[in-house]
Amino acid sequence: MSVSENCDHDCASCGESCASRTAAAIQKEKLNELSTVRKVFGIVSGKGGVGKSVITSLLTCAMQKKGFQTAILDADITGPSIPKMFGIHTRAQADGHGIYPEMSEGGTQIMSSNLLLENETDPVIWRGPVIAGLVKQFWSDVIWNDVDYLFVDMPPGTGDVPLTVFQSIPVDGIIIAASPQELVGMIVAKAVRMAYEMKVPVLGIVENMSYFECPNCGEKHFIYGDSHVEDFAAQYCIDNVARIPIDPSIAAMCDAGQVEKIEGNWLDELADALVNFTGNAD
Ligand code: ADP
Repeated sequence: MSVSENCDHDCASCGESCASRTAAAIQKEKLNELSTVRKVFGIVSGKGGVGKSVITSLLTCAMQKKGFQTAILDADITGPSIPKMFGIHTRAQADGHGIYPEMSEGGTQIMSSNLLLENETDPVIWRGPVIAGLVKQFWSDVIWNDVDYLFVDMPPGTGDVPLTVFQSIPVDGIIIAASPQELVGMIVAKAVRMAYEMKVPVLGIVENMSYFECPNCGEKHFIYGDSHVEDFAAQYCIDNVARIPIDPSIAAMCDAGQVEKIEGNWLDELADALVNFTGNAD
């Protein structure tokens, strides 16, 4: 959302959620008093379908394997795919204290709009403010139990909803999810710039579907041409770069709700970098 022509830069008297709101004027949502969340990382993409949810899940699993308590807040309200990837088809329970996340087999706490629908195939046809309100509730009303790392699967793009998420949830840093083709275009750059405008550090970039590794000889084929991820990372001063290959078994395991059983250490170094990240220490 652009700055209004009539902007007098007094955010306290203005209700617009534009990207130029000053930090002091941004009202972060309060965490539920029964929750403990130590660090929050958002996974952001310029558009849908690039593997943002797969990356969120694999990064969470990498952190889980290191022995940390993990959680996923699925803020992709209209395209929620996290519960299915973890094989969760139940509905979230609530009482007077708040809403309880569902727990994956490996111990990750998960909250998603799909856990609130009567049927998981029901479409979410809500307007932006309702969607943004639900994301805020996922932060303020859900009881997150002793979480070391909470990953937010952000809504794709740079529209009103991702903007509200940035403004209302105290995100410590973001990781960019991109496909090889996107890195030569401008869409992903817009997502990076949005994070910088919101004063949120960009801690890493993951190029998904980066290459195909021949199962017979192990040779890597860069089917989208030479990778541009290193250049992109250098241009935007992003320290950590990771790559995930195109692998039909990734899609099959996600479809079967077995994302926690995917073997692959593509995101281990990025997970280490996140563990070592001390910015915005509380
Ligand atoms: P997004 O969250 O960006 O919309 P998803 O993570 O839901 O995208 O991924 C979209 C589809 O692509 C899913 O069916 C997923 O299983 C598949 N997919 C993602 N990454 C890979 C990969 N590296 N190899 C094979 N299939 C993938």
